[in-house]
Order: sequence, then structure tokens, then C-alpha cells
Amino acid sequence: MEKFKILNVKAREVMDSRGNPTVEADVKTGSGISRAMVPSGASTGIHEAIEIRDRDERFLGKGVRKAVDNVNKIISKEIIGLDCRDQKKIDALMIELDGTENKSKLGANAILSVSMAVSRAAALEEKIPLYQYLGGLSKNNEFILPVPSMNIINGGVHAGNKLDIQEYMILPTGAKDFKEAIQISAEVYQNLKIIIKDRYGKNAINVGDEGGFAPPLSGMEEPLDLIWRSVEKSGHEKKINLGIDAAASEFYRDGKYILEGNKLTPDELSDRYGNLIEDYPIISLEDVFAQDDWDSWISFTENFGKRVQILGDDLLVTNVRRIEMAVKEKACNALLLKINQIGTISEAIDAALLAVKNNWNVMVSHRSGETEDSYIADLVVGLGTGQIKAGAPCRSERTAKYNQLLRVEEELGDEARYAKII
Ligand code: PEP
Ligand code: MG
Repeated sequence: MEKFKILNVKAREVMDSRGNPTVEADVKTGSGISRAMVPSGASTGIHEAIEIRDRDERFLGKGVRKAVDNVNKIISKEIIGLDCRDQKKIDALMIELDGTENKSKLGANAILSVSMAVSRAAALEEKIPLYQYLGGLSKNNEFILPVPSMNIINGGVHAGNKLDIQEYMILPTGAKDFKEAIQISAEVYQNLKIIIKDRYGKNAINVGDEGGFAPPLSGMEEPLDLIWRSVEKSGHEKKINLGIDAAASEFYRDGKYILEGNKLTPDELSDRYGNLIEDYPIISLEDVFAQDDWDSWISFTENFGKRVQILGDDLLVTNVRRIEMAVKEKACNALLLKINQIGTISEAIDAALLAVKNNWNVMVSHRSGETEDSYIADLVVGLGTGQIKAGAPCRSERTAKYNQLLRVEEELGDEARYAKII
């Protein structure tokens, strides 16, 4: 049997972590079946590639049978027989087959499932770990274990509380290795649970979509106070920094930002972030303004870009064209990389390489709707960009990524290097 030849492609509808359907694809080669599952966002940017949903009576309209059919009836025909190492060619072919700017014909969910599974098939056939194969695709051979950004208090559209800010994260920057990073973060998480329960009662320790607690708070600063108290209780003040994803597109209305029930101008919101940077050991801020509020991004980056990492998520949507624009305008200084925002692995890698070329940081990211697929753990090690966000150290769709990173660190042994990001 011809090695590397794609023998079959088959997709199916499976469930994601929020209880919604998503696409899973199998790519069959001589060595077996390589499988991948696609994540799904809730605070999605309007410039993202489109995930196709059936919009019929099944699953409240969220079924993905059409996307599955697009893999099984359209994409598979073109891909079967090709060499699974031709990632760029296969991705380009799917982009061409789709023919739209935002992959709305075949669906980014359909295309990405195949794109991911094809790279896994190539790694399988090459008999190398996925991170090593993806490192090769990104012309990187320095495997780096990332600093995790763990979202331990959830708000915004990911939780049933009144917090406007979507994510409050801990970054174990001072850990000596990834294993210690996990231990430190888990200790802070568990102590936070005790602190929240003591203060707000048992109801308050329910978790949001990404496994972080969702206490009944509404103030922007309160979660940071709670988290820092837990960091102190755990004795990890010297090893932890903090990060925020405001997901500000979600609370932007007619040029104003609705925070804590008040309409803030971009300058007022900028001042609030400035105070946070003064008062807490924050090193990372994401989506501080809405996805097309370029002027606010530009002036914020001018004011704070030397002190903190300013990540574009909805702003950039892992899209080379928007990254180019942001580099030119100096609208932020780091890329949040989500593979399903763009829809192919080749394009996601191109986005990362462009960011790195411009001396930006790159944080590989999960989505709020996730699966047990740990693909992004291998991707971040392969890219060697040193940062991942995959939610709290809780719930299996989140820990799947962290657990895979623990395995990779063990496998790399003496070669394993934990990222230094500050
Ligand atoms: C985010 O905004 O960074 C995020 C992970 O949320 P979602 O997947 O809902 O966009
Ligand atoms: Mg975000």
C-alpha cells in the first residue's frame, strides 16, 4: 500500500463541550485512521470564517449535517488519493472548492476538520509526534512548552453572572517547567474555590463554559482581588501573573462600552484598564476594544504597548490580512491564534509566522465550545511561540490540552524548555 496516500475521508456529527453538535473527521491512510474535532466559539468575531449550522428543527438549529455532507460528498472526492504531507496543497484545494472569502459555502467547520486530520495522518505516516510534524510545517525545530493562560473566573457570554469582562486568567510565568505550571495553577484554582465558597456560598462555585468559577459579581476589579487572594493563600505570588480577555465587542454599543451598567467612552475604558495595570501584576490584555474600533486600539497600544501584551482576537481573527493591517497601524502587539477563526492549518500557521516576523507574541487558543481533541497542545509546541490559553485546570475538554502538554514535556525530557515570556 502506498505510504502517505489518503485512502478515505469521512466526517460525522459529534457533540462539543457545551452540548452542541460539531464536526469530526477521519482521514484514513495505510497506517490507520487519524481523527480531528472542531471547536466552536460563543463570543465570535464578525470577521471570522463561517461555521455552517443547519438552522433546521434538529438541535435548535445547531446541527452540522450540512457541513458533514460537505466533507463526505464534496471534499472527500477531491482529497482521496492525495499525499497527506501536502498540507498546503490540500488546504488550498479546499479553499478553492469553497470559493468564498469566509468559507461560508463548505463551512470552516467542514474544512478545518479535514485540514487538522490530514496533518495528523501525515504525522502518523511519518511516525513522528504531531508537534514535531507541525514544527516542520512551521519551519521551527525548537520545541517550547507554553506558559498556560488559565481562565479561572468566567464572565461575559461564557457565564450566567453579571461580569462584563469575559475572562480572568492566571499565567504561571515563574514556574520552572510545565509540570510545575500546572501544579501552581491548580492550587490557585482550588484555593479560589474555597475563598469564593466562604464568601458567596455554595451557588457561587458553579463553573462557566471554560471551567472557571462564575461568582455573582459585577465589578471589573473584584475577580482580580479574589484571584490574588488565592495566589497569596497558595504562596505563589512570585510565580504568577494575571491576564484579562475583555471580549469588548460583546459590550460595545454605538461607540460606547457598557461596563457595570454605565456607558463609557473608549478613553474612559482605557483609563480603567490603565488602573488595572497599575494595581495588579497584569501582563496580558486581550480584546480591550471592539473588533472594528481601530482608533481605540491604536491609542491604547501607543500608551500601554510597552508595558503589557495586547492581544488581538476578534480584531485579527487569525487572518493574515487583518494582522498585516494591525502591524501597519500598530493596533496591538500580539496575536491570539484560533484555528477555526480561519479554517485551515496552513493559514493558521501563516498567521503565526507573520506575527512572529513582526516581533509579536502569539498565544494559541481554544474556543469556549471545545472537544476532547488536544490538537492545539501539539500546535503550540510545534510553533514554539510559548503561550496557550485553554481554560481552567478543570473539565476534560480543557485538561485534555494541558494533559497532552504534560505528556509532550515528559517525552521531550532534557530537551523540554518552558517558555520565558517576561
Ligand atoms: C475568546 O474570546 O478568546 C474565547 C476563547 O471565547 P470564544 O471561543 O467564545 O470566542
Ligand atoms: Mg478572546
